Amino acid sequence: MVDRTVLAGARVVLPTGVVEGGRVTVEGGRIAASAPQERPTLDLTGHWIVPGFVDVHVHGGGGASFSAGTAEEALTAIRTHRAHGTTTMVASTVTGDLADLARQAAVLAELTQQGDLAGIHFEGPFISAHRCGAHQPELLRDPDPADVRKLVDAAHGAARMMTLAPELPGGLESVRLLAEHGVIAAVGHTDSTYEATLEAIDAGATVATHLFNAMPSLLHRAPGPIAALLEDERVTVELINDGTHLHPSVLQLAFARAGADRVAFITDAMGAAGMNDGMYPLGPMRVEVKDGVARIADGPTAGSIAGSTLTLDTAFKRAVTVDGLPVQDAVRALSANPARLLGMADRVGSLEEGKDADLVVLDGSYDLAGVMRKGEWLVRPEVR
Ligand SMILES: [Zn+2]
Repeated sequence: MVDRTVLAGARVVLPTGVVEGGRVTVEGGRIAASAPQERPTLDLTGHWIVPGFVDVHVHGGGGASFSAGTAEEALTAIRTHRAHGTTTMVASTVTGDLADLARQAAVLAELTQQGDLAGIHFEGPFISAHRCGAHQPELLRDPDPADVRKLVDAAHGAARMMTLAPELPGGLESVRLLAEHGVIAAVGHTDSTYEATLEAIDAGATVATHLFNAMPSLLHRAPGPIAALLEDERVTVELINDGTHLHPSVLQLAFARAGADRVAFITDAMGAAGMNDGMYPLGPMRVEVKDGVARIADGPTAGSIAGSTLTLDTAFKRAVTVDGLPVQDAVRALSANPARLLGMADRVGSLEEGKDADLVVLDGSYDLAGVMRKGEWLVRPEVR
């Protein structure tokens, strides 16, 4: 009975429902079968235990960026988000020169092989100049399948997702190529129509990159990409639940249309996540963070919202306390759905026997009180 941790007394959120006064037993880094007569190691009465969060779209945190091209910076970003409950994450790059992106991918691929990351998400450069947001317009290019292939190859098997604008020349062909290589094709930073978006989904696109942001608005005679991505059951829609990118009413609309099983909360966080206001780099650009909102500081895209400073513990709390979602739906959007999207649902995303002991402890006000990853406390709950 060595190396066995028994967490008891909490409300445990399982796929089947919330168990009051439930217990989670951890052994050898995994969730083990619970024996009710066993004495608890830690009494978490008054707390929630939810699965560790899974972020499929994050650029950095703790003052560090995945685009910096060093393992040291990447690990700083990883540690920052882990301390906020994200136990699985995909590192996102921003638009850059192809050779630069290939170099960044090599570093991130190594961290993926070590198990520190769940892969790489290339956001750009194959996106629309009309919807580039914080991406540098002069570095954008059409999605030539040969170039897309180059980036995928540079990631040595770690490429998990690519955001592109499918209406650009080569767009549909690139979506097909990504799908064939097991890389998620994500529609985003796009000026696509409703019809063209449905074509992209038919070609294999399965994700909407931060739905509503960096794409045409939903209009009653021109539903655009938003309606197409919401209605098709093959698509998971990313939402940035920071209160800046989306109004709670719009977030609720997305849940009502797509259902709780097709939404993935993301941070889209840049280096300032987990830090104070100030100036931060985002790829080759400078970003000013004021009152927690990040905007491009200078150049042609000055003033654009540049990612977020969100962490997923805050997204969870907002989901329940501001957006009015049931705790179980918040868990789906933060853990189960993104885990399934990444093909990792056999290991992470829910509190079930045999899976990695990745879990988050929240107090009665939904504030983060503990984080465990693979059976080890990264943030140890202080319980009286
Ligand atoms: Zn992003």
